[in-house]
Amino acid sequence: MAKQDSTEKDSNSETEFGFQAEVARLLHLMVHSVYSEKEIFLRELVSNGADACDKLRYEAITKPELIVDDPDLRLTIVADEENKTLSIADNGIGMSRAELIDNLGIIARSGTKAFLAAAEKKGGDAPSVIGQFGVGFYSAFMVADRIEVLSRKAGSKSVQIWSSDGINGFNVTKAPKAQADALTRGTLVRLHLKDDALAYLKEQELERIIRAYSDHIPFHIDFLTLKDDKEERRQLNSASALWTRPKSKITEDQYKEFYHHAGGLYDTPAITIHYKAEGRHEYTVLLFVPTMPPFDLYDPARAGRVRLYVRRVFITDDADILPAYLRFVRGVVDSEDVPLNVSREMLQNNPIVGSIRNAVTNRVLGDIKSLSEKDTEKFEILWTTFGAVLKEGLYEDMERRDTLFQIARFHTTNGEDLRSLKDYVAGMKQNQTAIYYLAGESKEQVQASPQLEGFAARGVEVLLLSDPVDNFWVTTALGFDGKPFQSITQGDIDLSAIDPLEKKKGTKADAEKAAPDTAKLVGRLKTLFADNLSDVRASARLVESPACLVAPEGGPDRGLGKFLDKQSGKGGVLPVLEINPSHALVKALSQAGAGKKGKAFDDLAWLLLDQARILEGAAPTDPAKFAERLNRFVLDGLK
Ligand code: ADP
Repeated sequence: MAKQDSTEKDSNSETEFGFQAEVARLLHLMVHSVYSEKEIFLRELVSNGADACDKLRYEAITKPELIVDDPDLRLTIVADEENKTLSIADNGIGMSRAELIDNLGIIARSGTKAFLAAAEKKGGDAPSVIGQFGVGFYSAFMVADRIEVLSRKAGSKSVQIWSSDGINGFNVTKAPKAQADALTRGTLVRLHLKDDALAYLKEQELERIIRAYSDHIPFHIDFLTLKDDKEERRQLNSASALWTRPKSKITEDQYKEFYHHAGGLYDTPAITIHYKAEGRHEYTVLLFVPTMPPFDLYDPARAGRVRLYVRRVFITDDADILPAYLRFVRGVVDSEDVPLNVSREMLQNNPIVGSIRNAVTNRVLGDIKSLSEKDTEKFEILWTTFGAVLKEGLYEDMERRDTLFQIARFHTTNGEDLRSLKDYVAGMKQNQTAIYYLAGESKEQVQASPQLEGFAARGVEVLLLSDPVDNFWVTTALGFDGKPFQSITQGDIDLSAIDPLEKKKGTKADAEKAAPDTAKLVGRLKTLFADNLSDVRASARLVESPACLVAPEGGPDRGLGKFLDKQSGKGGVLPVLEINPSHALVKALSQAGAGKKGKAFDDLAWLLLDQARILEGAAPTDPAKFAERLNRFVLDGLK
């Protein structure tokens, strides 16, 4: 049989498919898994079945005919000891032939790659995180050496069987009549259990696993047995939506399991928010702020995953209940007032959803803020993981910018601890009027910047910003507590009103002494670098280093300017070179200029400029010439 792709149409033929390479790798990992908690396969299959029931319930709002003859949505588990098979069935939405092929085999899902990367990092423990990546179905190959998936799409006559050993690809074929008749709607996953997994045929064991992982699933999960040819069902879970239960009746573990199900994350959340709003609109909120990042945190789609329900009916996880900068928050909002028949598209503009969105966003930020005040340790984990994302709100959400400023924490020149802006303002020096910051590519690079020296000499704290997003909010932010943000790599900064910590020789006094020469030197450097710099001047910023680059007044600061140049691939605004007149090298340069030793002056001047570039993390203007000049100086020195 030829291997085909999922576009083929003949729904009666048996067709064999190869797994896509990434899916095959993932399956290899599952089949050979040494993971001890193999029981999670049941959680994943039940979760898929529940999602399928949720989807059908939503479809049935507009197409009640899909559900009338079998309105009771549920999952059914059957253990067949004789044939060593375990079946998990749902009467949910079901899958067409093409969906069976696409969803369960051909197309690697967006999470597959991320899962494989995580799996390689974690070794045999990879399955513990499988649900996060949307590849949960495959975990069943940890316990089964053959899986059949029978499915009848709601409203369809055709029942197809997908079957695979998890190694050599899969088959899809039309189900024989008897099997097709037995499946009135939805999906039945039949696992042919491996010999070391036969414990999963025992009702007690299944009940234990269901209670542990799936108790909160809002559909009945029944264990079905045949007694004297009569079906007997026993319900294994509580089957009530967890968020509808009173807080006092919910255990930590139940919250956690629900979080795993709704969030696909397996850490202990930093914050659990559970409340019922009763005012103009009535709705229940159960949200979690995680401590680990979801794999798609920085995907350009910036999609959130908060699930919107209307009176216990799942509507969508795409209603943008929270703004994009809170996309890492997981959980459920269940409204009593949104009309059930509102289409997913119309939700965007629905005023009730708008008002819920507003209130829930405020609540989440409020809770994050109180955590920042009450539990520094926990909060810092949260901030380290999601700070860069939260900061997107600083330029996207003007209304809540102040709250976000109160939440934000920064690395500063004040030591290793994260600092709030409130801390910063409280520590401002006499006559200091601005909140100073330095933005760059990494904390290490900004920390090594010569521009910081003048601030350090005066004990003025500087925020060290190294997330790409920092370049954007600082330019739009008006300030905090009435103090403007000021980049230390832009314009001519005057620190003279702030006293130095100790009046050393070599700072202001010396600079003044050097002034007459400095003016001449500056003039000469301006001529030499006419094409490379927009200006040259003596610096108030420098103490230890001979020179640094800053951005001219107006326009982007040095950090943002370099970032934008990189993005556009063009050189942007020419920088300003600031020199430290009291530095020995600058004095030597001044003398070389006075002695009219043209070559030595040019060489030294270029070395000064290239050094300033290197300190910014850039390459010298012309690396070959830089090496040549440096070598000349070294050789001269050795003579
Ligand atoms: P996830 O459920 O996280 O998306 P899975 O690998 O578990 O990832 O499942 C892949 C896809 O297969 C699902 O997104 C869904 O579209 C489909 N699917 C799996 N099980 C069922 C089911 N019981 N009923 C309907 N569709 C299902």
